[in-house]
Amino acid sequence: MIIADGVRSDVLARSIDNGQLPALAALRDEGSLSTITSAFPSVTGPAYAPFIMGRYPGSVGLPGLRWYDRSRRVARLSGHSRSYVGAEMRFVDRDIDNASPTIFELAKPSMGALSVIARGLRRRERIGRSAAFIARAAATHFRGDVPGWLAIDRNVGDEVARRLRTRRMKFAFAAFTGIDKASHAAGQDAPIVAEAMRIVDDTVAQIRSDAERDGRWNRMQLWVGSDHGHSPVRDHEDLTGLLAGWGYTTLAHPWAFNASADVAVMVSGNAMAHLYLNLEQKARPWWPALGEKWRELAASVLSRESVDLMILPTSSSSCEVHSRSRGMARLVWKESVYSYAPESGDPLDIGQQESLDDRGAYDATIESDYPDGLVQIAQLAGSPRSGDIILSAARDWDYRARYEPIPHVSSHGALHREHMLVPLLLNRPPSLTPRRTVDVMPSALAALGIAAPKTLDGVSFF
Ligand SMILES: [Zn+2]
Repeated sequence: MIIADGVRSDVLARSIDNGQLPALAALRDEGSLSTITSAFPSVTGPAYAPFIMGRYPGSVGLPGLRWYDRSRRVARLSGHSRSYVGAEMRFVDRDIDNASPTIFELAKPSMGALSVIARGLRRRERIGRSAAFIARAAATHFRGDVPGWLAIDRNVGDEVARRLRTRRMKFAFAAFTGIDKASHAAGQDAPIVAEAMRIVDDTVAQIRSDAERDGRWNRMQLWVGSDHGHSPVRDHEDLTGLLAGWGYTTLAHPWAFNASADVAVMVSGNAMAHLYLNLEQKARPWWPALGEKWRELAASVLSRESVDLMILPTSSSSCEVHSRSRGMARLVWKESVYSYAPESGDPLDIGQQESLDDRGAYDATIESDYPDGLVQIAQLAGSPRSGDIILSAARDWDYRARYEPIPHVSSHGALHREHMLVPLLLNRPPSLTPRRTVDVMPSALAALGIAAPKTLDGVSFF
């Protein structure tokens, strides 16, 4: 399983059609290229949970790349908040649901390269977790060095191919981050993104020719996917500055220590954000109990041009969905049954929907601007670690104006199509149409003949 992190479905398809990615074209011709939906937030880290655990990010405990620990039990030493950018990435494996196995724990022996979630891998089965590698990645990150990221991708590709050539394993996972970094810096149509895609193609070509040479190819499954898309950003809304201007004190990275803050601002991707209110309260307060004062703040936030959708969780199984111009609707769910009722309007633009199952909820939204929006909103709003105001940014906007080593001209994280639709390339045709990234892990287990645990959110397309 290869993750071409951040590649958009249409961009990959076009590059294959143009003849720029011959090894990926061969996979498509023998197998299939589908467009599937990622998870909300559409951001690296949380959006890897579907691939590695067959679960949605909110349900495994990764509601964002940054989140506030209301329980005060998880992140005591880091200001009761998490940011998986940088050193705290090492906490991902202990933050995720213990009861839900990773594919590395189920398919042994396995290997993972640059996998944000790596629980179940022994030290020697990991690529990109050594101290030397982390130092190099950190230096590359803080220099905002895009060619440096591509050099890392090339090294990772070579090392993955070498290990697959010399060791026998059931499952291997490799993430390539160059496409995402280059897209943030230059936009997804830039030549340097094409170069990053060619590194993925070269790696696939190498893995394939090695496997053909020693007779493994006819049994090998080789898949290429992505965890989120990308879209151009023209303006940054500095949420922290905005709230400060309105007289609130905030807790936000990189300054995450503020014991008396009014609001915790946790941005991911950078086109989504969780805002946490009443920080002293250890259990989720829910709307409308949060009260009039915070209603006014929510109304002010919704009035901003940068906000497309604002989600206000009302219980672990219901929420309000707001749009400035399209009004408010109520979403209610129980286990895997979803109902959506427009009240002052229809923010998702899908009409009234009653008692849809997982499949029905997908079909009702897949052509809309928010593919799989019902399930994705429900999964995130109900997560114990989510914020009290969840924002999905409007097109052309994101939520971080400062502290970004690569100034972003393109972002992701939101619920709209450009961020949520991702490609899935399989070297063998699936028996059912692939729908969601959460289906990839159960399908991998099926292909490997491993029984799927009952905790999975996805279903196999084999
Ligand atoms: Zn990114």
